[in-house]
Amino acid sequence: MPADCLFCKFVSSETPVELVAQNQRAVAFNDINPQAPLHVLVIPREHYVDVGTLAAADPAALADLVALAQQVALEQSDGQYRLLFNSGPNAGQSVYHVHGHVIGGKKLGWTPA
Ligand code: AMP
Ligand code: ZN
Repeated sequence: MPADCLFCKFVSSETPVELVAQNQRAVAFNDINPQAPLHVLVIPREHYVDVGTLAAADPAALADLVALAQQVALEQSDGQYRLLFNSGPNAGQSVYHVHGHVIGGKKLGWTPA
């Protein structure tokens, strides 16, 4: 784990965060700057920089991540959601511990680029 990774510190509880859901390999917490009524981040407990790296290294952890996103969307909204991974600075990634944005709770627009 990189010593300065905020999301690793969330996983280890070194930095407190309220988890809204968790499973064996992933945890979920509210985004600090929500873009929709439902905006939760799902992250693996282990540190990987982006979703492609996670998929290659630990497919089961990626499956747990997606399952947790689905669970959160069902528990907190109507089960309809967008699951978004920004990969790299040009895509808007600002935190380099892979995280899926679970976005929903309203009729979403589509301006992806
Ligand atoms: P990205 O730009 O795709 O890397 O997404 C990073 C996300 O992390 C942004 O949506 C931020 O609002 C969110 N974020 C940054 N710091 C925190 C924090 N301390 N707690 C919760 N979410 C955070
Ligand atoms: Zn990390």
